[in-house]
Amino acid sequence: DRIISANLMMEDQAVELSLRPRYLAEYIGQSQVKENLKVYIEAAKMRKEALDHVLLYGPPGLGKTTLSTIIANELGVNMRTTSGPAIERPGDLAAILTNLQEGDVLFIDEIHRLHRTVEEVLYPAMEDFALDIMIGKGPSARSVRLDLPPFTLIGATTRAGLLSAPLRDRFGVVSRLEFYKVDELAFIVSRAADILNVSLIGEAAEEIAMRSRGTPRIANRLLKRVRDFAQVRGDGMITYELAKHALELIAVDPMGLDQIDHKMLRAMISNFQGGPVGVDTIAATIGEEGQTIEDVYEPYLMQIGFLQRTPRGRVVTPQAYRHLGLPVPPERRG
Ligand code: ADP
Repeated sequence: DRIISANLMMEDQAVELSLRPRYLAEYIGQSQVKENLKVYIEAAKMRKEALDHVLLYGPPGLGKTTLSTIIANELGVNMRTTSGPAIERPGDLAAILTNLQEGDVLFIDEIHRLHRTVEEVLYPAMEDFALDIMIGKGPSARSVRLDLPPFTLIGATTRAGLLSAPLRDRFGVVSRLEFYKVDELAFIVSRAADILNVSLIGEAAEEIAMRSRGTPRIANRLLKRVRDFAQVRGDGMITYELAKHALELIAVDPMGLDQIDHKMLRAMISNFQGGPVGVDTIAATIGEEGQTIEDVYEPYLMQIGFLQRTPRGRVVTPQAYRHLGLPVPPERRG
């Protein structure tokens, strides 16, 4: 596993639970999304109604699950968690829905991966808080409508574009999470260090933040690795020098690129004149899946302007050439 992967890894699980903010006030960054949610939550509480259904989208590790638990906490309701691929049959979803209590939050991660037949159960549930079930088979079969308690569905996805239109249209609130700024990540890292009881200098937090690809999950993971170095090689304290040294050994560069990013960009440059190259071709050169590159690695490289998406494939930008210390070819200058 790549240390700069934004996907949840085994090693993250225990620590993420302890680091996860529980209320909006502790949730750093994403100010636009937070401000809006604050108003909607307040309004729902005043009206004593369930909050409108919320769709959260954006790359992995940016805090969609965290925000969902926060919404449930702020509303003072329970949250039930599941994921698109985990709900195999319509009956599985029906069982979950009928077990909800009034006002509860149902969180469905990777909602773009719901089976079609399951998705159809969601439509009346979201719209009318109703469940249509078929009784019997063949000509005598009939549909019976069951009432559900009002609830809030929170869907999370890395790929809003893959959601069907009827599903997307049933969300009252649609929010996109953005990559975090370095100062926000530095704050997140400092807060995590406090919780983990590690002493961390401000400049060291900044150094970790810079290399975290705009992603809190990666920031927390890098902090843990740097902490190991501090304990084994130092006196436990994370100074700037120690953080920098550790991060160099971990081989994550000052822009958050690892050796596989370097390999990928170099292969695009040396084998394909910097592109355009198709994602699957890129994937083959580094032994990743095309899908993983699109969902996990590429969004950040695009955000920092190292890769560009064109109809004919991905293109390496002049900034990336310069970052790698390579001359920018004349046809790429512009
Ligand atoms: P996603 O569901 O988008 O993949 P998560 O909600 O699981 O991401 O976030 C990963 C981890 O990053 C969380 O466990 C939490 O520790 C941290 N995190 C995410 N967003 C924030 C934030 N805004 N402030 C502080 N920590 C955060």
